[in-house]
Amino acid sequence: MMKQSLFVAGLLLAFSSLAGAIAQGADTETEAKLPAPGAKVLNTESTDKEKSMLRRADFAEAMQQVAERQKVFSGAPEMFTLEGDLAQGGLAFGQTERGAKVILDGKDVMVDNDGRFLVGFGRDSALSALLVVEFPDGRVERRSFEIEDREFPTQRIDGLDQSKVSGFTEEQLAKIAVDSAKKKAARAETQELADWSLGFDWPVVGRISGVFGSQRILNGEPKRPHSGVDVAAPTGTPIYAPAPGVVRLAEEDMYFEGGLVLLDHGHWLESAFLHMSRVDVEPGQRVEKGDIIGAVGATGRVTGPHLHWSMKWAGELVDPQLIAGIMPKEAPTRTSGD
Ligand SMILES: [Zn+2]
Repeated sequence: MMKQSLFVAGLLLAFSSLAGAIAQGADTETEAKLPAPGAKVLNTESTDKEKSMLRRADFAEAMQQVAERQKVFSGAPEMFTLEGDLAQGGLAFGQTERGAKVILDGKDVMVDNDGRFLVGFGRDSALSALLVVEFPDGRVERRSFEIEDREFPTQRIDGLDQSKVSGFTEEQLAKIAVDSAKKKAARAETQELADWSLGFDWPVVGRISGVFGSQRILNGEPKRPHSGVDVAAPTGTPIYAPAPGVVRLAEEDMYFEGGLVLLDHGHWLESAFLHMSRVDVEPGQRVEKGDIIGAVGATGRVTGPHLHWSMKWAGELVDPQLIAGIMPKEAPTRTSGD
């Protein structure tokens, strides 16, 4: 019993703060809902805040919840790992056993035959999440963990063609609707192949001219946050697949996106490449990491040539910059695709 308690404590410390776990109270099915955004669960770093919160908490009730948590964990050894960015806009890669069922905040997560799975957290994700793993033999493991609260800058862009910002004509609205339907259809399926599992390279090397999640003010009008990362590069610069995948959409003339490719990396993880001057792939085509999929351009809603790369996991926008890491100084020598 002692050993088990230590194990439970270790788990809690590893994945969350005790105070956060108690505050969330995600011990029962009915309590498994996440707090609303803004109902901040304390950070692991803010030990002072945690201590004062624990002091304020009703001690008996807190102990009761810990006891219940131990019941939940008892007989459920640590049977999965989760690595990555537990942050707004982050992705984390999981490994469990074959046949296990994984549920993130009440939503089923795809698990492949090797027990691999992927979870992501949108820009405005709540600041804690609950992962439940149900094993084939009936054991259940639950872990709540904190999601890092990120700050996003504001970016003003002027000089855009006003017809791409607002006051759309009937004809333009019709084109936007057609484009939207194409994207929706392309996103209706995914593959079970874990093409994300070996990591991501930058598709283009260059100066980062726009970051994920920034509040956009376009020609003076507040718009939705920036969905991806912008890399400035001359028109015609080749765009390399950052990871393998299946092309789901390859269009040369979308209203906002211009030349657009959607690449399915498996498990509902998708890359979108926008504003391309040239599209070299076709829907259904499989590409390997490093294959050329097209070229940088200035098509769609832009002020100059750049690659806009955005990523979605299960419909949530995630930050490619977290996944691809530090931009290299110069393009690596590519060996495939030529
Ligand atoms: Zn962009």
